[in-house]
Amino acid sequence: MLEDKNQERTSLEKLGEFGLIDHLTKNFEINHKSTLKGIGDDAAVFDHTEKTVLTTDLLIEGVHFDLSYMPLKHLGYKAVMVNLSDVYAMNATATSITVSLAVSNRFPLEALEELYAGIALAAKVFNVDLIGGDTTSSTSGMLISITAIGEAKEEEITYRSGAKPNDLLVVSGDLGAAYMGLQVLDREKEVFKVNPNNQPDLSPYSYIVERQLKPEARKDIVELLKEMEVLPTSMIDISDGLSSEILHLCKSSKVGCNLFEEKIPLDPTVISACEEFNVDSTMVALSGGEDYELLFTISQNDFDKIKGNPSLTVIGHMTDEREGAYLVTRGNTKIELTAQGWNSFNSDN
Ligand code: ADP
Ligand code: MG
Repeated sequence: MLEDKNQERTSLEKLGEFGLIDHLTKNFEINHKSTLKGIGDDAAVFDHTEKTVLTTDLLIEGVHFDLSYMPLKHLGYKAVMVNLSDVYAMNATATSITVSLAVSNRFPLEALEELYAGIALAAKVFNVDLIGGDTTSSTSGMLISITAIGEAKEEEITYRSGAKPNDLLVVSGDLGAAYMGLQVLDREKEVFKVNPNNQPDLSPYSYIVERQLKPEARKDIVELLKEMEVLPTSMIDISDGLSSEILHLCKSSKVGCNLFEEKIPLDPTVISACEEFNVDSTMVALSGGEDYELLFTISQNDFDKIKGNPSLTVIGHMTDEREGAYLVTRGNTKIELTAQGWNSFNSDN
């Protein structure tokens, strides 16, 4: 349905490996002084004044992405976002990325140009240098591995382990939209299989579909917290779903948590999509994943600094470890959080 309209197909063999790397990367600029050597030698060289943070992710076609509804430009952009989000979750500034690719001969040069257009857009918007990578062939499908590098002052790095009992639990943006966007895309894919002439009207779902196809890492939140002079006590990005990320913070910090259902921020389009698909919106926020929002804890003393900010919502507080991690429902019952959402839901299924 979102097929590439570009009919030109240049075989990758024509260019050869070096020609291909050169072709894909020639328009990338180096913008950071700390990048001493980018693409073009055996290794990149950089010189950070602060501590270096580094994170990597591997994305596999058919496991992590489906090219039947993911345009390659979006895939390139999202692959970068997923990594930058991890850098920001350390409260660091991202400076550079590497991109490693394995592609089968099913992909023409034009497909990789699209992928790199997405990578280039992400690099420009988020101001990161492309400093290297690797390119190889695959017997089937596409694999992309991106590594993101960043820097942060040692005292500003936020680990998962710093939360204390009574700290407030805060989340940026809203939750569950990327998951519901995927439900819509999956449904349309099934409709398309039956009737390829059917052009879906995705306009009522534009926000949630965009959250699935073009997530934005929350660099702005890291900058906002600096401006507000709030140093989170712990932080993580939401890739798997609120519930499992809360449990990561609890485990690393050796604390418990009360999460309040009524506080979980949901976009109205998520609520209506949940009604349409007959799924529980709290469950979607807890276990949907791919939101790439930041989840962090702050000292209660910092509450006044973040209070009323539309990008931030206090959704709970941390407790003693022995109290455990709970969802406090709208009906004021406490349900133990599990990585999949909450206990009672799983046993009912
Ligand atoms: P090597 O043989 O030392 O691995 P390559 O020929 O694979 O070197 O790569 C040459 C240069 O191009 C290196 O700087 C490498 O980091 C960069 N590079 C290779 N593939 C990619 C890619 N897909 N995207 C960006 N840079 C790449
Ligand atoms: Mg190589």
